[in-house]
Amino acid sequence: MDPYLSIVIPIYNEEENIPALWGRLSGVMAEHFAEPGKPWEVIFTDDGSRDRSLALLMEIARTEPRVKVVEFNRNYGQHSAIFGAFAEVRGRVVVTLDADLQNPPEEIPKLVAKVEEGYDVVGGWRQGRQQNDSFLRTIPSKLVNAVTRKTTGVKLHDYGCMLRAYSREVVNAMLLCKERSSFIPALANSFAKRITEVPVAHAERAAGTSKYGFWKLINLQFDLLTSFSLLPLQMLSVFGFLTALLGFALFVGLVVYRFLHPEGTVDGVFSLFALLFFFVGGQFIAFGLLGEYIGRIYQEVRDRPRYMVKKVHQAE
Ligand code: UDP
Ligand code: MG
Repeated sequence: MDPYLSIVIPIYNEEENIPALWGRLSGVMAEHFAEPGKPWEVIFTDDGSRDRSLALLMEIARTEPRVKVVEFNRNYGQHSAIFGAFAEVRGRVVVTLDADLQNPPEEIPKLVAKVEEGYDVVGGWRQGRQQNDSFLRTIPSKLVNAVTRKTTGVKLHDYGCMLRAYSREVVNAMLLCKERSSFIPALANSFAKRITEVPVAHAERAAGTSKYGFWKLINLQFDLLTSFSLLPLQMLSVFGFLTALLGFALFVGLVVYRFLHPEGTVDGVFSLFALLFFFVGGQFIAFGLLGEYIGRIYQEVRDRPRYMVKKVHQAE
């Protein structure tokens, strides 16, 4: 029989967290999704961990047939890892969460209940965001949230929270998307009719360190900006048009000034420099942005697989 609920967890160097995670998760499953009513499965993706994570996961899978471990041949990133697991899910309801226990497994039933009510996508909205998430980490995610709200047009409070539930149809639709740079929460929304959020608790990372450095975050932000809208490109044209208009007005102004004060000189070297720097800067931003799109087009046309599965482990 196909399971009712599929839990998806990406794992990258989480050896310290796996035992506690599995302890709490299996507890929640036993309590809320006891057989025969609502069979469940858990799919871990080992995203090329260099520590004992894979061994620990395989140990769990050996004794618990409802656990599947998708082994990647190297590290492809959190969102690819989630996709790798999505390809294996069989449940009607799919829940994703992080392995570091920042997303309490105890919240899962709440999300599942919302999907039961008929929502396609249920996002977690982290309450009491840990300030240990240093502000270098919270400010970018505030930015991510703001930009995502704008570009996707769906008003959620928290796109960064990966404790989320999806109906199977939405997961299937996401699996059809072959683009490389996909930010799952935003992608999901583009296939969902009814979207909601539920407040969820948020804890400090139980152990280990965040796998997101500054660059990974910047990259994620560019993914978002460029894969969900052409707005930045359109803004470039608008900006160019306005600048040209301004330049023309300035020209007309200067000509008029010349006629009114035939003997006056325009003393404007410094303002000229200011203008110059401003526009040169603007141009570089524009080039960078264009390059960003072109780079992504290049990656798409190469059409490499998003990840390589080495093996799927599951007990018979
Ligand atoms: N992760 C992954 N591959 C990566 C980076 C992260 O599978 O390349 C997993 C990681 O093991 C964790 C989740 O994605 O389960 C979120 O990572 P992390 O906690 O480091 O992100 P943060 O909470 O700092 O946003
Ligand atoms: Mg985390």
